[in-house]
Amino acid sequence: MSTGLVSVAYVVASILFILSLGGLSHQESARRGNLYGVAGIIIAVGATLASVDGGIVSIVIAVLLGAGIGIAIANKVEMTQMPQLVALLHSFVGAAAVFVGFSGYIEPLIETSGAEHTIKLVEVFVGIFIGAVTFTGSLVACGKLDGRIDSKALTLPGRHLMNLVAIIVCVFLGAWFLGTDSMALGIVALALMTAIASVLGVHLIMAIGGADMPVVVSMLNSYSGWAAASIGFMLGNDLLIVVGALVGSSGAILSYIMCKAMNRSFISVILGGFGQTSSSSAVADADQTVHESSVDDVCEELRNAQSVIIVPGYGMAVAQAQNGVSEMTKILRDRGVNVRFGIHPVAGRLPGHMNVLLAEAHVPYDIVLEMDEINDDFPDTDVVLVIGANDTVNPAAAEDPGSPIAGMPVLEVWKAHQVVILKRGMATGYSGVENPLFFKDNARMLFGDAKDSIDKLVGGLRG
Ligand code: NDP
Repeated sequence: MSTGLVSVAYVVASILFILSLGGLSHQESARRGNLYGVAGIIIAVGATLASVDGGIVSIVIAVLLGAGIGIAIANKVEMTQMPQLVALLHSFVGAAAVFVGFSGYIEPLIETSGAEHTIKLVEVFVGIFIGAVTFTGSLVACGKLDGRIDSKALTLPGRHLMNLVAIIVCVFLGAWFLGTDSMALGIVALALMTAIASVLGVHLIMAIGGADMPVVVSMLNSYSGWAAASIGFMLGNDLLIVVGALVGSSGAILSYIMCKAMNRSFISVILGGFGQTSSSSAVADADQTVHESSVDDVCEELRNAQSVIIVPGYGMAVAQAQNGVSEMTKILRDRGVNVRFGIHPVAGRLPGHMNVLLAEAHVPYDIVLEMDEINDDFPDTDVVLVIGANDTVNPAAAEDPGSPIAGMPVLEVWKAHQVVILKRGMATGYSGVENPLFFKDNARMLFGDAKDSIDKLVGGLRG
């Protein structure tokens, strides 16, 4: 395939990727956005394969092997395990940037000299640095999301100083790398920097507490984009640069939006400096009473209600209760009850997790509202059903300045006339912070798996 045709194909693919991102920003157009993305990637891969001079057999074998492993893993992964899979996939991009960087230094594809050579070396150094931080940081994020690593923040004394020293040492190694003519010394500089950047990646993400993990996931998404862009620079592949920049910048914008939604400082996230969940003054008072409810009582309250807000959380995803929730919504709406959903920006374990589940269960989009759109309506609401949500409805965030989640905007469900919380026991949410909501006078606990409870409520409402 001629270089001109490859360039045209790359431009078409880039436009499709931009259209894809635009489509994915709205529920109604998300499916179309996905199709644009799929078309773009097919054109990109096709054009790249058609432009390869030699070694096509080994590329096809590697692609088939990778696709086989990917399909096998994807088939096994539950929807609730998607965040850790995404984090793991980010780590692969980081690892690829490290490998491409080393091989690009040892056996450059294009011979360069003078200023061009210096620019190439900077690309290699920065690409490996970003790749190493992304690789280990994403592995730690994967471990935290999977529950293999404690979700609490690791707050070592002098941790900011340690991060600063690590970055300064890397800058010196970079100067040494650029200054040396010896490939052996260059490799030593790269290897030392890779080791330091890898430790930095671990340390940055270990310092982030549970409730702040969503920002970290989208931030690592952004890092993986920049790592991909750096691979594009090293390989001289324009499409990879464009795609990497798209992922990097959209991930950064998402991180910024999430920081705003959670009332956190964007700079603090990048520096791994917030999210301590070491202590909480919101720990429940031992004397406080939990009011337990029953399926019959909740059915009665729902029958008498004129307005109901459903607040889903991670527990709804675990229980796979969304279809039952959709059925219950239909029954209530058919009876003339005003049913709406309140979605917190970080509910579940992925951005948009709840929206995806509700869309899958055919809940109409127009009754699914964002936190800002619905938060003022709780005082006028008869019944709120909290289905497997915990941190995102925790009043401690609004009422307790000493809480690790203080300042994070939450759905103010306790302002409704009656709140029913569906969960299995008194466990905390992902942040590990106790929830005083469960002890409020207007709160009732309906204990049990969310799907079982919802199925029973559907049965009760039908009967
Ligand atoms: P939480 O993680 O705060 O709480 C979920 C609750 O669901 C638990 O308290 C649990 O209690 C309950 N639960 C679990 N399984 C079931 C079940 N089968 N049936 C009924 N209940 C169940 O959920 P939220 O959605 O409110 O908050 C999300 C949290 O995750 C936030 O802290 C957020 O920062 C974090 N996070 C979000 C990400 C994102 O991108 N959205 C990414 C990473 C982290 P019990 O065991 O007692 O049943």
